[in-house]
Amino acid sequence: MSSPAYARPVQPSRVPAVERRPVNVVGLGIEGWRPFAIAATAALVVSILFAAWTAFHWVSDQATIDIDDIGEAVAAFIAAASCALAASRNSGRTRLAWALFGASALSWGIGEVVWSVYQVGLGVAVPFPSAADAGFLLAVPLAVLGVFAFTSAPTRLATRSETVLAGAIVALSLLFVAWAFGLGKVYESSPATPAAQFIGLAYPIGDIITATVLVVALRRARRAEIGRMALLLGGLAFNALADSAFAYLTANGTYGALGSVLDTGWVAGYLLIALAPLWPAGTDRELKGEGPLELWQLALPWVAVFAAAVTAVRLAVLDQSLDRFATVLAGGIGILMVASHVLSHRDSLSLLQKSHRAEAQLGRRNRLLDEIISHAPLGIVRVGTDMKIVDVNPRMAALLRTEPDKMIGAPVAKYLHPEEFARVFEIFQPLWKGTLETVESDSRALRGDSTEVWLHWSATGVRSASGRIEYFLAMYEDTDAEHAANEAATAHLAGLERLNKLKSEFVSLVSHEFRTALVGISGFSEMIRDGDVSLEESKGYAADINKDAERLNRMITDMLDMDRIEAGRLTLHPQSVDLNSLLEDAVDRARASSSRHDIVCNFERQQPIVQCDPDRIAQVIANLLSNAVKYSPDGGEIAVTSVRRDNHVDVSIRDHGVGIAADFIQRLFGRYERYEKNSNKIVGTGLGLAITRQIVEMHGGKVWVDSEPGAGSDFHFTLPVGSPKD
Ligand code: ADP
Repeated sequence: MSSPAYARPVQPSRVPAVERRPVNVVGLGIEGWRPFAIAATAALVVSILFAAWTAFHWVSDQATIDIDDIGEAVAAFIAAASCALAASRNSGRTRLAWALFGASALSWGIGEVVWSVYQVGLGVAVPFPSAADAGFLLAVPLAVLGVFAFTSAPTRLATRSETVLAGAIVALSLLFVAWAFGLGKVYESSPATPAAQFIGLAYPIGDIITATVLVVALRRARRAEIGRMALLLGGLAFNALADSAFAYLTANGTYGALGSVLDTGWVAGYLLIALAPLWPAGTDRELKGEGPLELWQLALPWVAVFAAAVTAVRLAVLDQSLDRFATVLAGGIGILMVASHVLSHRDSLSLLQKSHRAEAQLGRRNRLLDEIISHAPLGIVRVGTDMKIVDVNPRMAALLRTEPDKMIGAPVAKYLHPEEFARVFEIFQPLWKGTLETVESDSRALRGDSTEVWLHWSATGVRSASGRIEYFLAMYEDTDAEHAANEAATAHLAGLERLNKLKSEFVSLVSHEFRTALVGISGFSEMIRDGDVSLEESKGYAADINKDAERLNRMITDMLDMDRIEAGRLTLHPQSVDLNSLLEDAVDRARASSSRHDIVCNFERQQPIVQCDPDRIAQVIANLLSNAVKYSPDGGEIAVTSVRRDNHVDVSIRDHGVGIAADFIQRLFGRYERYEKNSNKIVGTGLGLAITRQIVEMHGGKVWVDSEPGAGSDFHFTLPVGSPKD
């Protein structure tokens, strides 16, 4: 059994997310693609028209200058307005980021207005450098800060150093490319003043910084942000492109008053920035489920290095050598790359060590969990949603007297009593619906060897991160003994209740009997006292009084005996007795009491001498004989037999009376037991046979009856020949 199977379900909220960052690139919160698509189409059309106008100088040269300058300013102001709106709709760092982007566009737009005042308003060539350059150049750091505001710094030190190194590598590579393409030479041969040269150089440097920031930012962008981020970064890229073209053209004096078709870069750039806040908000929701970074994002810095390498090869092919600065740059790139490599190697090594440690810890935990589960005193089962057994621990298999391998894959129903399955299925319903976490019950289970066992069980639904039930975890304990004890206690209680009922019936019955006897005694004695009765009649009344008194005496004796039996105080006074003579005496008395019955004797010839209490055994015989007489109301033969068998004597008293119903035979010898259907007709207390059994068993013998309702009863008791039990 594998322990992960039993791992506690991980709550979705506890799933560690990939490094979370506090700032999201959230826009205007517009739902749906329609507004964005319309705006994007408009931006595309405007950019194409602008490019065409500046390329083909439509209408007139002045119109081209107007469209070029004013168009660029308008595009920048649209971007500024769009970003300002986004800033007003957001808060915190996102607001700051949009505000910085807006300020950058505004700064650039103002620069362009100054430029237009010279060219369009005053109709003169713009001096270089001019106040316009301040606006243009200020736009660069503002945009860069905007990008930084969107992408917060990485939290891990290793990632932070790696980001700085990647940025440096990109910057140096781009500078190398720019230098190789003649940046240095252009400025060396430029006719401008050193101050103008410095400002001119600020443009390509600003572009390199912008490109570096772009690469770094794109590297850290999450999938859901990429749409909006790409628009912003694409806008900056277009601007940087136009800036570079402007710088080169200005430096070598080819940037004319009519501008260039490359100016479209600014228009398209700012329109892209203006579009960014319009990106639909629906995708913001995806931010929650971010994944790891894409490979292309990680590889971005190497594109710049690749460009530098290609440039170096190109120089070699063209037979041009590197100057001192370019060589320093190349060396710097190499050093940074080595540093970056070492850093990432160290990082991966430490990550590897961490993962090894985590793996070892997990392994230890798994082993511990395995041990706990396999030694658990509870049966543990994993049940699939198809109600088939997926896994069991050894204890469970032992509970069901089978092997774990035999249980795995089998349906749960196989181990349930057929009557139980529907009920268990019903109990499971709240687990399926998710209204209850745990359900429990007791079920009769079928063991592998076809025997049954009562099990107490509880089951829990284990859910996946998505909230779907994956399997049920059930625990079982053997409650067979508990069940048996409960059943015995219930039966015992029922027995006590019944005894209680019988006792109450007995009390009312005895009261009735007493009263009847007393009424008889007082009635007959009154008649003798007050009546004019002859001697003969007096004798008859006296005989009746005597019968009633004897009945009372018998009942009191029986009750006292019963009391002694219940208290365990009945004692025997054993002596050697000839059983036949005891039987003969009892038969004589019975014959005297009833003339309607023919009592026949068939005794063992050899005198059976038994060790017994003669009074008590006489009581037993008298009781059985009086019952035989009592329950044969129509008279008939009563046979009294004694036979010696092995080491005991078997005495039988057989009548042809009412007989005993089969269902009553079990209870016959119990205390206070009377057969209801006879009760009304024949008087009695239900004590006689209970006392009989107690006396016989105390002598080491047995008592039983064979009977057929309507055909009579044959009561037997045995007594051992020799020394008694007590
Ligand atoms: P009781 O005083 O009621 O006779 P016993 O304990 O002697 O009490 O007998 C218990 C019950 O057994 C009787 O109520 C009667 O229903 C049944 N019984 C006993 N002996 C006989 C018999 N010989 N034939 C039929 N029923 C008998």
